Amino acid sequence: MKNLWSDREARSFVRRYAKECVNRDRALRVYTSRLLGGEPALVLHGGGNTSVKTTMKDVMGQNIEVLCVKGSGWDMAAIEPEGLPAVRLGPLREIVKLKRLSDEDMVNAQRVNLLDSTAPNPSVETLLHAFLPHKFIDHTHANAVLSLTDQKDGEALCRRLFGKKMGYVPYIKPGLGLSRKTLQVYEADPSVQGLILLKHGIFTFGDTAKHAYSRMIGMVTLAELRLKKGRKKVFTAAKLPQKTTAVADIAPVLRGLTRYGGKRLIFDFRGGAKVLNFVNGKDIRRYACQGTATPDHVIRTKQKPLITPAPETGGLNAFRKGTARALDRYVKDYQAYFKRNNRRQKIKRTELDPMPRVIMVPGLGLFGLGADAKAARITADLAETNIEVITAAERLGAYKVISEADTFDIEYWSLEQAKLGKGSEKPLARHVSVVTGGGSGIGAATARALAAEGSEVAVLDQDEKAALAVAAEFGGLGLACDVTDSRAVRRAFDQVVKKYGGVDIVVSNAGAAWPGTIGEVPDKVLRDSFELNFFAHQSVAQNAVRVMVAQGTGGCLLFNTSKQAVNPSKDFGPYGLPKAATMALMRQYALDYGHLGIKSNAVNADRIRSGLLTDDMVKARARARGLSQSDYMSGNLLGREVTADDVAKVFVDLARSTKTTAAIVTVDGGNIAAALR
Ligand code: ZN
Repeated sequence: MKNLWSDREARSFVRRYAKECVNRDRALRVYTSRLLGGEPALVLHGGGNTSVKTTMKDVMGQNIEVLCVKGSGWDMAAIEPEGLPAVRLGPLREIVKLKRLSDEDMVNAQRVNLLDSTAPNPSVETLLHAFLPHKFIDHTHANAVLSLTDQKDGEALCRRLFGKKMGYVPYIKPGLGLSRKTLQVYEADPSVQGLILLKHGIFTFGDTAKHAYSRMIGMVTLAELRLKKGRKKVFTAAKLPQKTTAVADIAPVLRGLTRYGGKRLIFDFRGGAKVLNFVNGKDIRRYACQGTATPDHVIRTKQKPLITPAPETGGLNAFRKGTARALDRYVKDYQAYFKRNNRRQKIKRTELDPMPRVIMVPGLGLFGLGADAKAARITADLAETNIEVITAAERLGAYKVISEADTFDIEYWSLEQAKLGKGSEKPLARHVSVVTGGGSGIGAATARALAAEGSEVAVLDQDEKAALAVAAEFGGLGLACDVTDSRAVRRAFDQVVKKYGGVDIVVSNAGAAWPGTIGEVPDKVLRDSFELNFFAHQSVAQNAVRVMVAQGTGGCLLFNTSKQAVNPSKDFGPYGLPKAATMALMRQYALDYGHLGIKSNAVNADRIRSGLLTDDMVKARARARGLSQSDYMSGNLLGREVTADDVAKVFVDLARSTKTTAAIVTVDGGNIAAALR
């Protein structure tokens, strides 16, 4: 592993933060924390922590000895001084005298000693940092070190490699017990440069930021070199079908099966060479189900993945049945694990949902599952890291981690669960929406509104730049898609499914207006309009229900049909006719798929400023009627101009309604000629 320390960069951190009254110690602490956090082979997604002992002034202007230690919820890769809250060191050190300390008392003791009452909770490993005397302390869950310690004889392996340079601490859950034990190991030989926390990670320390960091890189490099000497070929491949089914066909089946208590999950797929090598192994059930490389992964990945049968092309039904059986076993195993371990708890725990968070599909790859796309991505990242660690561990011997009881203690530890955050979910959380014509106007407004309600949103538009720009506003997926090309629509849906695991809500919105007197209109104009204003809606809806039927969790189709569908304008037949057909299409879907819980509804909007009704058109029409632009735009029963956001709100309302189907909602400020009976 490369040592990235640079004197120049270090100086620039000190200079930059001096302007914000951050002292040299804290500035350098930020610098090397970021160096560590930027290396995924050392820490991932909030894992690991660092500290520095320094002095700061309190409100009375007195110099106070403090420990600045990583705050819970901060990621080291992007840490700022606020992410290293200052805790009074004296009172923390007093705690070493205690024999016992509850989690709640520990958190409280750390909080009441904060210099800033609004700071985040200091790390759960704060006491350990406080008890050790060193100025700079670095802690990571380095993959290479875990591969060595996560072995049956992990301690012996580490002792042979690091010798007296390091101290060795047996596995104990973070807290006072671990902190006291760590201090004891250190005091037994104060010449050590750091400590190996067996089955957990590594600590290094030093007088300077550079010193502690360089020791970390040095020790991890030693571990990496040792692993290189292991076997080259690790896993024996299982016999798998020649051709496997596509991810886009498999994911909706899995997403439907893993719905629990009415709640669905968002998926994130990984299928690189290392992942395939792992999931295709004959002994996957042994090495993949031991537990996580470092204990705190368990809160996101669970102890074990679900391993499905290998899917064969054309054998989707067999895959569904086989997976349902495997999942049933998984859930029963999880519930038994909970019962078994909850029995010995003094304070009884509440069982978490028993669904897996990692699914391994031989021949295909793996899925990370989470309540939203970000959580799913983090889970998939951790699953890939576990594969990295397990693969390297198996080069040397056999992967082995902490006991089931220890795993349970971390999974159900309130301080770990607190890291996941609480709070109520938004109404469309855990849903995946697709919006066509989402790059501008009503489509863009609808995409934004769905995202604001918590949905993951894929924005499809002919104009790729526009789709990407709208999607970037809320971290969604932007895709180029010409909806009149049915193969392009299929490809786009495949991409959405690959990204999120499925589809729940589809807003078929793309459209364009073609004027023409019906008796004289060229055939091509009418057919072109039917391609976009009718057939495109059909291929979008067809793809949507294909995925929704595979999921078996219902769904929601929404069509933009415009007031033209019921109240045609003169010389506007090429636009109104296909829109009327699309209104009938909406009803047909409601009729044919209602029994599967798939709703189908439409919105009739009118007179919305957009690509269809440009400012120039508004000007011309207002002038033709002798009206001001604003009088023209608000020429409806309510006398109010209707905006794209008004239409978006109704699409969202329909998406949230559970008992409405085959309905048309008008959003036109009131137009009696377009009113529906
Ligand atoms: Zn740790």
